[in-house]
Amino acid sequence: MENSKDLRKWLDDFQLSHPLVIAGPCSAETEEQVLEIAHELKDSDVSIFRAGIWKPRTRPGGFEGVGAIGLPWLQRVKKETRMLIATEVATAEHVKLALAHDIDILWIGARTTVNPFAVQEIADALQNTDKIVLLKNPVNPDLSLWLGGLERLYNAGIKKLGVIHRGFSTYEKTKYRNNPEWQIAIDLQSKFPDLPLICDPSHITGKRDMIQEVSQQALDLNYDGLIIETHCNPDKAWSDAAQQVTPSSLKQMFVELKVRKETD
Ligand code: PEP
Ligand code: MN
Repeated sequence: MENSKDLRKWLDDFQLSHPLVIAGPCSAETEEQVLEIAHELKDSDVSIFRAGIWKPRTRPGGFEGVGAIGLPWLQRVKKETRMLIATEVATAEHVKLALAHDIDILWIGARTTVNPFAVQEIADALQNTDKIVLLKNPVNPDLSLWLGGLERLYNAGIKKLGVIHRGFSTYEKTKYRNNPEWQIAIDLQSKFPDLPLICDPSHITGKRDMIQEVSQQALDLNYDGLIIETHCNPDKAWSDAAQQVTPSSLKQMFVELKVRKETD
């Protein structure tokens, strides 16, 4: 990753606002649910719409996503709202389907980043893509594993790269769902100062009432963006119900958050 300045270019190329805001449901559930959320987020600070269609669940028996049927729903979001669209990919098959449906941003989830074979398979399927690829930190607090994943993607010729800091698992119960361990992300940033760094306060906190506080911490640390799970009826969400916020509370949060200006 010798020319790390290139890694930042996509943020400027897309002329996305600062901070870059990605929002949308943890999971796409139905076409109506996806479109309702997207229309509520239209013309707000949100420039990228997220929705998981393949959901890696820690334990079996939970909702594992609607699968490829959800891809045209995301395409409708792009057409009707002009937001870019993002989804999680965990296998080469997911990549193939996502590319075939013109998904703009593909992210690799925390449970996938821990597995070098899986990351390599995804990197190979994405060879030289000009799509934006965001790599979440691995579930465990291991900077090398995170860096290794990045190198695999970079070596596959993917230049529009960024990372998502979603916190780290601990066996001990803390006030967070996933401990932020800010220092790990700061260390990663000091190695690659030009790599776009996005915070995921939803998966760090696991609770909607802590999202604003953690988002502010990330902005104070000069993160480039935030990815926040958003649902019109959060308590009824099919996954991660406790941490999703409504589009209107998301908009209110952006009125209240203090963003550092270049001159500060
Ligand atoms: C998600 O973004 O919904 C998700 C599954 O996140 P993570 O990989 O951070 O657990
Ligand atoms: Mn989620």
